[in-house]
Amino acid sequence: WDLTYDVIVVGGGFAGLAAAYEAATNGANTLIIDKMPVLGGNSQINGGVYASYTSKIADDLYKKLNLTPDTPEKHIEDTIVGGDYMNDPKLVRNLVYGAPHFLNLMLDNGLQVRESITRPGGHYGYRTYTTINGVGADIVAVQKKILANTSATVMLNTKMEQIYRETTGEQRIVGIKIKTDEGYKNVKAEKGVILATGGFSANIDMRVKQVPSLTADIPTTNHVGATGEGLIMAQEIGANTMQMSYIQLYPFADPNNGVLDATAVIPFSGPSSGIVYVDYEGKRYVNEGERRDVCSRAAQESGGFPTFSIFGQEIVDKGGFISEAQLTGGMEAERIFKADTLEELAEMINAHTYKGNKINMQGAALAETINKHNGYVKAGSDPEFNKRIDKGIMLTIEKGPYYAIPQWPSVHHTMGGLTISEKTEVQDIWGKVIPGLYAAGEVTGGVHGTNRLGSNAIPDAAVHGTIAGHMAATGKVPEY
Ligand code: ADP
Repeated sequence: WDLTYDVIVVGGGFAGLAAAYEAATNGANTLIIDKMPVLGGNSQINGGVYASYTSKIADDLYKKLNLTPDTPEKHIEDTIVGGDYMNDPKLVRNLVYGAPHFLNLMLDNGLQVRESITRPGGHYGYRTYTTINGVGADIVAVQKKILANTSATVMLNTKMEQIYRETTGEQRIVGIKIKTDEGYKNVKAEKGVILATGGFSANIDMRVKQVPSLTADIPTTNHVGATGEGLIMAQEIGANTMQMSYIQLYPFADPNNGVLDATAVIPFSGPSSGIVYVDYEGKRYVNEGERRDVCSRAAQESGGFPTFSIFGQEIVDKGGFISEAQLTGGMEAERIFKADTLEELAEMINAHTYKGNKINMQGAALAETINKHNGYVKAGSDPEFNKRIDKGIMLTIEKGPYYAIPQWPSVHHTMGGLTISEKTEVQDIWGKVIPGLYAAGEVTGGVHGTNRLGSNAIPDAAVHGTIAGHMAATGKVPEY
């Protein structure tokens, strides 16, 4: 062995950073590696939305925003219904009951969130917090800061190449082979290896093998490192995988390049505020409160390319949904169009090209759609698409200026992955725990079922990372 630690964490996204922090603060000499030159992975470019049924600031916010407080039971139910009952309920309970602990840890260490709690697609309780800039990087920054105050060692540009498993005795995981700028090294793990290597949305061969329609011409929101080889290395030493073909598209990415930027988060957090989605003809095509898989499919079947989110000044003025920086930044980048009337907004939409394509939306059609929707908001019911409208919370689109954001589906999250126990122990194909191997975050399967609800990814990664770190360091699950 070239190096020896108690715990090795592979991957420096939400899951790995949470695991390393927990292991290091529980007495383990900890190494965290990432193959990329920076920490953060997809977590860095994620939308910064976090579902938690409560938090240390929840009481104040619910009162101030006049919202009905949430319950853990409702969060569990929505997550399982949203995943078509294919979730492992034990893992869902971990996510839901562990979510407030990690959010509070972040808030205690300087995380700033907006004055809002939203109800995005598939969530029927108000439980989604948005970081101040609407990006996961806000959370990664706090995780990096608190990790720096521990004794953990961070190695970047360091790739796991192989996992070592004993072939005799209890067949424990004993370490990994890494590739660094100085060549290969063997690193021993006295207590455990934690895999937090993320998903495989950016690995076209791997995703096409699971879902043949997800070819190279469908873009991804993911960073280039989301290539899934950690998963394959785990399979090589006997790990089981589950639900590998459940791959989610993000319905609201930039239609030109598939990127999920700060603008692309607005359509997602917006449904409970009253944002309306329209197709190339200016007509609604889906219940905006629906889950991501439903919204993506509806867009693909809308008959044109792309679709748009429409909102008015009321939603901007309400605050909490869209930050000033997000709005001005989005307009400068020509990701958000702004006009005084809906007719002019349609003209702006038509003046742009989308992957070289042009459309011809009629201003009158867009205005008719929005007027009809305004009526539904006032009446508190949506006879067309059956969207749940909370009267007094959802806003109309009557006051200019008006805004539009072009949007289109992009490969986003691989729900399947390594099979783990509720203690994050990786299991083999017979359901037996592989001693010394833990996994957390997008590399695992079973938490989200067929479809992950937005804002459930960070609590999943952070909570299971925390459990994995605690388990590897102490052999026990954490108590919150
Ligand atoms: P999660 O949200 O589950 O934490 P992320 O995608 O945010 O997932 O983070 C996973 C991290 O793991 C990324 O930063 C990625 O670069 C890193 N990673 C993936 N495979 C390897 C590997 N073989 N060796 C080292 N790091 C890896």
